[in-house]
Amino acid sequence: AHDPAAARDAVKDADRKHVFHSWSAQELIDPLAVAGAEGSYFWDYDGNRYLDFSSALVYTNIGYQHPKVTAAVQEQAARLCTVAPGFAVDVRSEAARLIAERTPGDLDKIFFTNAGAEAVENAVRMARLHTGRPKVLSTYRSYHGATSTAINLTGDARRFGNDTATAGVVHFWGPFAYRSPFYAATEAEECERALRHLEDTIVFEGPQSIAAVILETVGGAPGVLVPPAGYLPGVRELCDRHGIVLILDEVMVGFGRTGTWFAAEHWDVVPDLLCFAKGVTSGYVPLGGVAISPAIAETFARRPYPGGLTYSGHVLACAAAVATINVMAEEDIVGRSARTGAELLGPGLRALAERHPSVGEVRGLGTFWALELVRDAATREPLVPYNASGADNAPMAAFGAACRKGGLWPLLAGNRVHVAPPCNIEAPDVAKGLEILDEALSVADAHMR
Ligand code: PLP
Repeated sequence: AHDPAAARDAVKDADRKHVFHSWSAQELIDPLAVAGAEGSYFWDYDGNRYLDFSSALVYTNIGYQHPKVTAAVQEQAARLCTVAPGFAVDVRSEAARLIAERTPGDLDKIFFTNAGAEAVENAVRMARLHTGRPKVLSTYRSYHGATSTAINLTGDARRFGNDTATAGVVHFWGPFAYRSPFYAATEAEECERALRHLEDTIVFEGPQSIAAVILETVGGAPGVLVPPAGYLPGVRELCDRHGIVLILDEVMVGFGRTGTWFAAEHWDVVPDLLCFAKGVTSGYVPLGGVAISPAIAETFARRPYPGGLTYSGHVLACAAAVATINVMAEEDIVGRSARTGAELLGPGLRALAERHPSVGEVRGLGTFWALELVRDAATREPLVPYNASGADNAPMAAFGAACRKGGLWPLLAGNRVHVAPPCNIEAPDVAKGLEILDEALSVADAHMR
């Protein structure tokens, strides 16, 4: 007979014995065994269902198990699983065409990778070769992936265990009005001072040594940092003035997350290189890539590009991308993301902030939001310190436990809860998630001074 408890124990036992998990002290973790998933929900072996406000790691933009995409992957698997990257093949051509059609401006050529970090690695390599310059500038509040170059470009604390290959990386401060590094009082002041700080950094590093500035269009892991109106156009202008390549990392925010196909559209900015991954296949099969400007593509028109991957443009992944993009277009999932943000999530989260003093700020757009949790509303002291663990992190751990107990899987980062459900989440599920957050925030309130 089918015994879910025995199945769960077998899964967990082999996991504990043989699976080495990311970012973890292996003996200090206790991973939940997941039995299945559909739409905005996943469930365990004990009958607990979780409303997924994290979209896995912010990638199931169309929810779990969309039948059109699972069918397309099955059909492709039966027809042709793989061919070498050097051949031209139907689904790869079509995936590249569909992506190029949607990326901003004249970004028209697609280099496919397996995921986000490799997209960043290759964008940086292209920028260095195109300019002949060594340095890359990135912000402290950023995450760009976990390979050697990408983790050192990363500004957040995940970089700390990896400070071995920092050559050529320079960090600067991006705008963040709520915790302004520039002591700015308004968004406009924050924008102006952040641009002046970047310009000073460029001048003092030496523009002739700088290949690229890389930015998350909207900072994801660092806290849903929506830039002030003039910031990205200002960075674009600085890059143009100094011959620096602008790389926008849209690994987390591309493919509908912010209510547009790509977040750069909100500010009408066209980068020279754009990194994508996650949402391109809703994560059903791993895929990432770099969209490339004509000028950079031209650099490698008659000179070989010195980079490549066995699985660049993997056929099964490209089939998933084609199906995902078509489903997003047919079901207006990008528009739904925008409307869910404007009509439900934004107002709903702001209403929670009115009721809960621990919510210091609500920010976001589309299906991409964060609540900044504080110990003290006046001083804005974070509910837990930067890079907290163990007892220091207890208030956030208690808040997370309350969410999960209510049936909501939250995405927690530092002193924040990020709200990133599937872009096609249904209205009743938004309401349900907000209700659970409402209860859990009382736990956060209780940890204030
Ligand atoms: N860039 C950004 C903005 C990300 O959010 C991530 C992952 O979360 C990455 C890059 C790295 O992507 P991957 O984990 O697929 O290598």
